[in-house]
Amino acid sequence: MSQPAPQPEGSTTAGDGAAPARALRGRRICIDPGHDAYWGVGAAGRDALGEIPVHPTEGIPLLEHELTLTTGYRLARRLEQQGADVCVTRNEAGALQIDPYDFSGDGQVRPDSVALEDGPERTQPRIDWANRFRAELLVSIHFNSLDDPSVRGTEVYYSDTGKRSEEGRRLAEHLLFGVLGQMQVEGYQGVGRGIRSDRYQRYPPDIQARFRRNNAVTIARNGFDPADCPDCQRVGVLGNNPMSLHPGDYVGALVEVEFLSNPEVVDELFLRPDALAIVAAGLEAGIVSYFRAA
Ligand SMILES: [Zn+2]
Repeated sequence: MSQPAPQPEGSTTAGDGAAPARALRGRRICIDPGHDAYWGVGAAGRDALGEIPVHPTEGIPLLEHELTLTTGYRLARRLEQQGADVCVTRNEAGALQIDPYDFSGDGQVRPDSVALEDGPERTQPRIDWANRFRAELLVSIHFNSLDDPSVRGTEVYYSDTGKRSEEGRRLAEHLLFGVLGQMQVEGYQGVGRGIRSDRYQRYPPDIQARFRRNNAVTIARNGFDPADCPDCQRVGVLGNNPMSLHPGDYVGALVEVEFLSNPEVVDELFLRPDALAIVAAGLEAGIVSYFRAA
């Protein structure tokens, strides 16, 4: 996906001349479709009967790793049409571009269903791919899930630490407004759950401790204390987690588009023929407005 899309000669303005065409010319953007079929499948959407439906036009089941991949490539093509150079952390068949690799030193990397503490080893290939591409921006796409099926809405995570935190916060805001705005234009009334720090406690303390213990060598090498490491609770792919072997060198945000665990959202949004087109257009709008406002 790194080759630029074909471009019409001499078109520098769109329509009325107000908005420049190819607003992302020369930008280097990496799209990170969350999860994959082997290392960690993510959430599943179910209809009112509890079945995992197949999307009516995309032909894929409502599984998070499928939805992120299709949305990610839709977004990548849109960004290329705007002149951006784009990388995607998974290939079009859905596999990670770089395989996870063992840096905790225990001789293996295990899938998400087997070992939580291998998370940094599964995330690092995504960071590496974006760094290798020299991405200035990384947008990670996820679909949310909770035990409570009534919860709905869109939220965006950014890393509120490091030299890019202010840009990350701005990117998160633009992505949130972009997605909610596009949903509204298309007649879906979304709910904004806000932008949020990527430092959040996802696991009970005992599991967190095991997590840190298994990655103690990397944490210490990064200058943090494995026994007391709040930053170890940061989202891995945004590149500011001390359990990462190499940090991310980009402005990043992670979008949780909507809740697959809410059957009403499945019915009202995800089963719409244009559902993923709406999400991709909303993310594109957010990226364009982020750069325009810079
Ligand atoms: Zn996810």
